[in-house]
This record gives sequence, structure tokens and C-alpha cells, in this order.
Amino acid sequence: MEKLCVIGAGESGVGAALLAKEKDFDVFVSDYGIIKDEEKKILNDNNIPFEEKGHSIERLIECNIFVKSPGVPEKASVIQKLRAENKRIISEIEFGFNYYNGIILAVTGSNGKTTTAGLLFHLLKSCHLNVGLGGNIGTSFCKRIVEQEYEYMVLELSSFQLDDIEKFKPNISILINITPDHLDRYNSNFEEYINSKFRIAENQTMEDLFIVNADDPTILRKMKNMQSNVRIVNVTTKNYKDGITSKDGNSIYDLTLKGSHNLLNATLALKAARALALDESLLQKALMTFQNVEHRLELVAKINGIEFINDSKATNVDASFYGLNSVENPMIWIAGGTDKGNDYSELFSSVKGRVKLLICLGKENEKLKLAFQNHVPEILETQDVYQAVQWAFENGMAGDVVLLSPACASFDLFKNYEDRGQQFKNAVFQLLEK
Ligand code: ADP
Repeated sequence: MEKLCVIGAGESGVGAALLAKEKDFDVFVSDYGIIKDEEKKILNDNNIPFEEKGHSIERLIECNIFVKSPGVPEKASVIQKLRAENKRIISEIEFGFNYYNGIILAVTGSNGKTTTAGLLFHLLKSCHLNVGLGGNIGTSFCKRIVEQEYEYMVLELSSFQLDDIEKFKPNISILINITPDHLDRYNSNFEEYINSKFRIAENQTMEDLFIVNADDPTILRKMKNMQSNVRIVNVTTKNYKDGITSKDGNSIYDLTLKGSHNLLNATLALKAARALALDESLLQKALMTFQNVEHRLELVAKINGIEFINDSKATNVDASFYGLNSVENPMIWIAGGTDKGNDYSELFSSVKGRVKLLICLGKENEKLKLAFQNHVPEILETQDVYQAVQWAFENGMAGDVVLLSPACASFDLFKNYEDRGQQFKNAVFQLLEK
């Protein structure tokens, strides 16, 4: 029995362990931190040995193959030690790829992955395909493989999941955009991050498709030096205004998603679906019924004519740029949180004459206040989301939009972006009870 060790026992790590067990590896799981009870239960139920709160290197060294969870950074000392021993380290995605024989449609990008992958899944499902949705989107690729035999698999992939692939090769890949994010994991080097994203296509061949956003300058620049004979499909939505163009180009399809960025996401997803030669009328209907997951430009409520929109997932400047630009009405903007080295100047033209009040919701708001003091008429600050929503309501009038689109991570005041979005929604619901 070949000895395999999984580093990190989150969703991906446990998924990999389950698949490894099924494939008769001698599996061991090792986590530096505390493993969640639900994951421990799965490991115990499947008789998979594990350790937590540290790695016992002597035991690890006996293994010959290592599956690294995407949350474990390259810099982690355990990875450094294994590298020094010339051990084979692969990502969970690579491991899953060895055991999956269906058609893979993989989506990556800095922003829009969940939306695009979710929509693509919905499109395929609506055409009655046997399709799974996995990767960065809740359930890992490996878990999906163990779960049942899917003929098609839509994968949402972060750059971390693409690091440490070897042969992974999607039949169709989508690259949405590349803007600076997560640079803390890439030695502050944007080029390294770009290279990670492009790995989605590195093993693709002439039979495969690489669908890219050809309006993205970083993608275009990198494509010039790309050594691959994959078939490239350039998508440009620069001239798009109203919706998605039908296949014959003569009409426009309606779409539940809002904003120009979502036109891009939907066009990319539709290109991929059309490559599978699916029924066009079913695809058109599916575009009209897609419900995105929470916290992405989610309409929470309309109270006294004021719309409250939750875009808590906008954790970087680029996402907020599109969030702000997707709203046409006068806005009260709630922003702030943990700053990731943000350059707010990219947002000046989006707020000018449109945002009438900025409410800063973070522990440290100085940078945000300083950046926008000459660009919005009024700024307030609080650390209480209920207060923020109350002020927004008091200062709003019918026709206004209150937009939570923080441009920052949430960890200063909240557990995560979901918690921030949920608390915002609770605060809005409380207004309804008054
Ligand atoms: P990801 O999974 O890549 O984080 P999401 O679909 O969850 O992407 O969206 C994250 C945030 O980015 C949301 O605020 C959303 O409105 C915004 N967003 C979605 N698509 C795009 C896009 N194509 N370009 C820029 N921002 C986008």
C-alpha cells in the first residue's frame, strides 16, 4: 500500500483523504491547527488516522506522496521540510484529476469565480446534464468524485488550488480577470500570482478550449507569451449594455444577474455551455432563472423606497468598483474593514456625484476617510453594523440605494464576509420590525 499524507484537514483535505482511502492508499492526515469537529467525525467514521495541533515530521517523512490543502502556504515550515526531502507534493485538484474521467469545466479569476461557476453549473443542469459543482465553492473536487459519478464537473478554482498541479487539464477553462489579490501568499509579486492563474490552461491541448476575458489588460499581456496550442476563445463585452446576445446575434437575452461585470461572467459561462452544443432555448431560460449565492449584490429589502444591497463578498477594490458601478441610483455606501494594501483612487470616479454618504465600518477608518474626504459630501464612521444601517436609513430617501460593498476583508469586526453580510441583513430586517 502506498503511503499518502494529506496536509490540512479542511474541506479539500478531508475530501482528498476520503478519495485516497477509496483508492486503497495508506492515508494519514496532518493539521497544524485544530481540526473542526465535523471533519474529525468524517475521518473517524472512515477509519482515517489523523493528528492535529502540529505535524510529526518523522511520521510524515515515511510517506511518499503528499496532498496539500489550498489553505497551506508554500512558506509553511512543514512544506519547506518536505521540499528539502524532495517529496512529491500535489494539490487536491491534481489528486482528484487522476481519478476523474468526465468532462471538466474549470473557472478561475480574481473576482467572479463563484458567480460564473455557479451559473455554468445551472446552465448545464438546466439542460439535464449529469453535472457536479466543486472546488473552491463549498464541496471539494475529491468529495464530489467520491459522492457519485458525474459526467460533467464544473470546478471553481482559486490560484492556491492551481499551485501544485502537474497534469490537471480541464476540457474547457475560463479565466475571468486578474487583478492584485492575495499577494501576501505570492511574495508580494503580482507576476507570480498571474502565473498561478494561467496554470489553469498549462496542460490544455488542441482539443480543449481556453475562454478568456480579452478586455483584461493583464490577461492580454500574458497571452502574448503563452506557449500552448490550446484553442483560445476571446470574449469581449466592452460594447455590451443591455444583456447577453443570442446565438444568432439578433436578439438580447434577459438575465437575473445585474451589472456589467455579471454580463461578462454570464457571457463567459454561456460560451462554455454553447461549446457543449446544448439546447439554446434551455440555456436562454436558465439565464432567466439563475439565483446567485448570498452576499454578492444581493437585494435584501426595499424599505420606504430605499433598496438595501448586500455585497459583503466585495473584499477587494476591484469587486467594489463593479458593485458601485452596477447601481444607477444615488447611493449611501457602507465600506471598510481590514485593508489589504488598497489603492482607493480606482474608486474615485465611481463615487463622485453618486455616493452622497459614506459610512465607514471598520476598526481603522483613517485611510478610507482620508482617501474619500474630497470625493463624497459626507463621511460617518462606526464599528457597529446596526448603527451603520440605522444611519443609512435615516439619511436615505425613496429612490436611494444603500450598498454594503466593503472593498476590504472582514476580519477586524466579523468572523468572515458571510458573518458581515448576515449581520447587515439582520440589521436591515430589524428596520422592518420598527
Ligand atoms: P469570487 O468567487 O472570485 O470571489 P464572486 O462571484 O464570489 O467571486 O464575487 C466576488 C465579488 O466580486 C462580488 O462583490 C461580486 O459582485 C464581484 N464580482 C463578480 N464578478 C466580477 C467580475 N467579473 N469582475 C469584478 N468583480 C466581480
